[in-house]
Amino acid sequence: MDRQAIDRTVGRLSDLCAGLGPLQIMEICGTHTVSLFRSGVKSLMPRSLRLVSGPGCPVCVTSQGYIDAACDLADRDDVTICTYGDMVRVPGRHGSLEHRRGRGARVVVVYSARDALQYAKAHPQTNVVFLAVGFETTTPPTAATLIEARREEVGNFYVLAAHKRVVPAIMALLAGGDMPIDGFLCPGHVSVIIGAAAYEPIVAAYRKPCVVAGFEPLSMLQGIAAIVEQAAAGEARVDNAYSAVVTGEGNARARALIDEVFQPGPAVWRAIGTIDDSGLVLRDAYARFDAVTALDVALGADYEPPGCRCGQVIQGKVLPTECPLFGKACTPAAPIGPCMVSSEGVCAAWYKYGR
Ligand code: SF4
Repeated sequence: MDRQAIDRTVGRLSDLCAGLGPLQIMEICGTHTVSLFRSGVKSLMPRSLRLVSGPGCPVCVTSQGYIDAACDLADRDDVTICTYGDMVRVPGRHGSLEHRRGRGARVVVVYSARDALQYAKAHPQTNVVFLAVGFETTTPPTAATLIEARREEVGNFYVLAAHKRVVPAIMALLAGGDMPIDGFLCPGHVSVIIGAAAYEPIVAAYRKPCVVAGFEPLSMLQGIAAIVEQAAAGEARVDNAYSAVVTGEGNARARALIDEVFQPGPAVWRAIGTIDDSGLVLRDAYARFDAVTALDVALGADYEPPGCRCGQVIQGKVLPTECPLFGKACTPAAPIGPCMVSSEGVCAAWYKYGR
């Protein structure tokens, strides 16, 4: 870690903020939220600069209707659920996948979509449903896996698709008009795929600085300083503080994989509602892998657990500590909402580092 560079950037940030009024910057993704806490960068912010979290934790933005559908599927004798670990503990209307597993349901934690496909090939007697959640970072592996499953004609593999796109969601939230954000710290890993230029529509439509940053302390600090610099100059543009990894155009090969299998479509975001073009739906050639139609899944309506304010937390409207359940009824050991479950969850990060 380059201590001198960090000290210099913190000093520059303080000088910039001294001449400005209060600023509110949103770190879009949960990885930034956790990294800002864990590295101590959050505690280095000037008092007038507030960092709030955005809708970038995959588990946190997944609707309750989806969680309930996954739990219903797990109850079926002929189904095995394969999922990333964080999804297992999200409470549904009648318990979580973890509860189902305790009652004998087949719920298998995997580290990739391909692991789920391998499981399906090894267990032809069961229908394997992979919970395909996440943003542009996890979508290419899901797409590559579905291409392989189609090529090899694997007949017992399905996805419950809920992949999401970052930029349309931010645009929709800004269009709502009640999002007092002065700039966005954009996620390095998503930007590797979509490219820094993907944020141009946010700048063009709403004149909000967007700066791509990595997850090391210096990169995050440089990203935040670049946003404040733009605000101080009355400017708005896309900057890239992670240019060693992120290009303007992103990863064309990964995007081609996504385009082969998915097309933009509506997606339901927890406590936000349906946002056009913010999701990725299976193309016709891959429709037979869609668990919703193939296994006749009923995706119920979204709702929030009573008292839970996850919906406002992931829009940066309240801090986790402003939820009356935080640290009392809701803790990582006994979570009520997904923001307290996920390793990238805002409430879990505040509980672990911010109290
Ligand atoms: Fe939801 Fe728990 Fe966070 Fe409150 S503290 S918003 S109940 S996850």
